[in-house]
Amino acid sequence: MMKDLLEYKGVIHVHTAYSDSSGRMPYAVECARKTGADYVIIADHNTLQSRREGWEGWHDGVLLVIGVEVTSVKGHALVLGLERCGGWRHAHPDVYLPQVERLGGTAFIAHPERTHRGKLFRRPQAWPNLKTQCYVGIEIWSFMHDWIEWAFPWHPIAGVRNPGAGIVGPHPEVLRQWDQVALGRHISGIGALDAHERRYPIRRLDWSLLKVLPMEHLFRTVRTHVLTTEWSGDAGADIATLGRALAAGRCFTAYDLAGDSTGSRFFARRGGKVALMGDEVTRGAALEFVATVPREAEIALLRNSEVIAAGTGSELVHHDAAPGVYRVEAHLGGKPWVFTNHIYVR
Ligand SMILES: [Zn+2]
Ligand SMILES: [Zn+2]
Repeated sequence: MMKDLLEYKGVIHVHTAYSDSSGRMPYAVECARKTGADYVIIADHNTLQSRREGWEGWHDGVLLVIGVEVTSVKGHALVLGLERCGGWRHAHPDVYLPQVERLGGTAFIAHPERTHRGKLFRRPQAWPNLKTQCYVGIEIWSFMHDWIEWAFPWHPIAGVRNPGAGIVGPHPEVLRQWDQVALGRHISGIGALDAHERRYPIRRLDWSLLKVLPMEHLFRTVRTHVLTTEWSGDAGADIATLGRALAAGRCFTAYDLAGDSTGSRFFARRGGKVALMGDEVTRGAALEFVATVPREAEIALLRNSEVIAAGTGSELVHHDAAPGVYRVEAHLGGKPWVFTNHIYVR
């Protein structure tokens, strides 16, 4: 089965001039082309105007997907597959997420970190204590939020000159809560940028520093690699295939600026059967868990948030029969690098 799947990499949660960023669609496509991204998921705040204007689809070998960031004072969500949106600016996710689902949308909780490191800002965030189950996953890592915690307000110049210097990876508490939720239900994890680029940065002081980061640079940082059947060139079909893979958790998140993670895999074998990221396996005889990465790295296999096997190399193999949620983290030269979705042993 795994041999039928191809790997596509792309960037998720990109703002454009349709909301509060300065890049336009052709520019986003050009940045994707220059950085080797196969797909870009646009998520402007509370608007799908670019979709109505026909931007969704294939452009120059790049699959442009127009989602939306439902931007409510009670918590944000990245939503795919909606034709229209609106009226949710003050709605709680418990209210708007079921409505999103009824309208045919697929929701991921956006940047679920509750606080910034410096505790200077607090974002309202309802996850993981939502009553609704009407979301398929979360952004496990949002590059912009990782960056701004370090860069603002103490390292603004260094942050602009060398944006990667203070990056620490997914918030440990988000990962722990993600594992907790995964013990009870299927929940996908994706990597996001929350890319805001601004060429005239002085207008509003609070976001100004954030927006000077150029889109092309951001597209080289946190990318989500999906495993799917080969894309056909039919935009509607390919967007559906991509959406299903993201919702299923058949993907991993990687900081490709530290090193190209293409080819990384995490799977489990028992007898002749193979389970991939996002798959559920029935408990029973021991499974052989295999993690591979394309370069020598520090690889860790976790079950229910606990590291159960670790080593340095390009492969890690471990046998285990215990039920729980298994996933892999790899660090490259001390930098956060690859974060896979779970394999669920129930
Ligand atoms: Zn947001
Ligand atoms: Zn955003």
